[in-house]
Amino acid sequence: MDLALSSRDHTEAAERMMQNHTDTARVHRHLWRFHGGLHLPDHKSLSSGQQIQPAALPKHLVLPLQQHIGAPAKPLVEVGEHVLKGQMIAQADGFVSAPLHAPTSGTVSAIEERAVPHPSGLTALCIVIESDGEERWVEHSPTTNWAALDASELRNLIREAGIVGLGGAGFPSFIKLNPGARTEIDTLILNAAECEPYITCDDRLMRERADEVIAGARIMRHALHARHVVIGIEDNKPEAHAALREALARLDRSDIELIQVPTLYPTGGEKQLIKILTGKEVPSQGLPIDINIVCHNVATAAAVHRAVELGEPLISRIVTVTGGGVVAPHNLEVLIGTPIDDLLAQCGGTRPTLARLVLGGPLMGITLPHRALPITKTGNCILALTPGEFGQHGPVRNCIRCGECARVCPASLLPQQLYWHARAKDFDHAQDYNLFDCIECGCCAYVCPANLPLVQYYRYAKTEIWAQARDKKKSELARERHDFRTERQEREKAERAARLAKKKAALEESPAADSEEAKKAAIKAAMERAKAKREAADVAPKNTDNLTADQQRQIEEAEARRAAAAEKEEEVRK
Ligand code: SF4
Ligand code: SF4
Repeated sequence: MDLALSSRDHTEAAERMMQNHTDTARVHRHLWRFHGGLHLPDHKSLSSGQQIQPAALPKHLVLPLQQHIGAPAKPLVEVGEHVLKGQMIAQADGFVSAPLHAPTSGTVSAIEERAVPHPSGLTALCIVIESDGEERWVEHSPTTNWAALDASELRNLIREAGIVGLGGAGFPSFIKLNPGARTEIDTLILNAAECEPYITCDDRLMRERADEVIAGARIMRHALHARHVVIGIEDNKPEAHAALREALARLDRSDIELIQVPTLYPTGGEKQLIKILTGKEVPSQGLPIDINIVCHNVATAAAVHRAVELGEPLISRIVTVTGGGVVAPHNLEVLIGTPIDDLLAQCGGTRPTLARLVLGGPLMGITLPHRALPITKTGNCILALTPGEFGQHGPVRNCIRCGECARVCPASLLPQQLYWHARAKDFDHAQDYNLFDCIECGCCAYVCPANLPLVQYYRYAKTEIWAQARDKKKSELARERHDFRTERQEREKAERAARLAKKKAALEESPAADSEEAKKAAIKAAMERAKAKREAADVAPKNTDNLTADQQRQIEEAEARRAAAAEKEEEVRK
């Protein structure tokens, strides 16, 4: 029997078994509620009716080497080199890293520092590609029989395709698909909540490409050996819910549960969605895998399908361009590296009333300093806001200790305490108040009557703590190196002294050391050594043929003296 077929049959059988299990579990599915949260005006209708359209091919693409959590990728190309669409142009550097692929064919015109969309506003190393307009693909090989692959082979395909979480964080997906040999995954959750106002790219993906999401979910399940698969979708996306439900029925995939959850910001937070669907709490500063759950975004699932079954690396993503400040909101399929300016132009440009350009949603996004920045793998939305359009408050005042921020915090934190400690640069106390459990959802800042930029303070505190930890690690490393060097130098000094002492003792112990007898013996021994060396080297003597016995003896004595002198010199050096 064909091995691939056999494995596929096995996978199908396993999936059917899980299906029966899931059918039983579905009867008992119950929804929980997380603490806090907000009912927000969602503004999704601005773009949710817009079908996905391909963005125009830009003249040049700017690809930051770091578009993911972890180490930046390492360039594989040089300036002037011609590249094909889908060709790997930078490789992963270390375990937590992701490769980068050319989004179109063209020429590498620069590898240099460029402005990138990041809260720090700093530049980063980028590969710039001038498009040749031909869109010529590199040869790529689809894997149709993925069910025949084992989990590590699948993870490797996903890693090589440069797939990272497309829901916002950008963690390399192959790592989240590797639970380790000893962890059994109970539930794979596909996050279809898309809870932040304005953003509709996942909504459109599910409406138009539900099959791709489901295909990706099956591959992910196979890689994780997950017992259950649940798609959690907010109930403000009835069309996407219907499209997924119809696809699951058509594909006979009743082993995948589709659960509608109430619309409440931030349901799309990983920990919050897990709580709603399973009732389980991810431990403080822990990960979902600690409670045998893995969570991936629906767009990541679709990208996994394309990588494995079509052999296409991650070179594009869907981006919502919306807000009152843009003329014609769209959902665009965008090549990674496309300048944001190009996308705004394709949406009719911005209105004169534009006040703020945001990458991401209005609560978790970052304000862009200008529009000549590229779209990266995690860029799901370009939001053009007009004055007062969304949660834009008045002047900042002092905290009045009203407690509103704590009431809405979905992580059950005390945001005002975090604020005080972050502002006072008292980072130890900020950590005592679980700063790193803050998901930066912005609920606290949204309700704060004092208009305090709370999330900025939390981001600042986290960045400072990370920087201090890095500095501490560096100085510890430097101290270790210094200690090691000092230890080595002292050890060598002691060894040298011991050698000298040994030689001195040996000389003092030998009574014949200075005697005439000893000198003769040493000369004789040296003469024999010199002769043996000459013979071994097989060096033909020059101008010394036909020597008399006396001449020969004189030469040998001279060589012996030279050899003895050389040996003495060597000893002194030691
Ligand atoms: S909501 Fe604002 S004013 Fe009220 S306690 Fe929190 S930080 Fe202070
Ligand atoms: S930003 Fe952080 S502190 Fe504020 S509500 Fe969200 S999780 Fe809580």
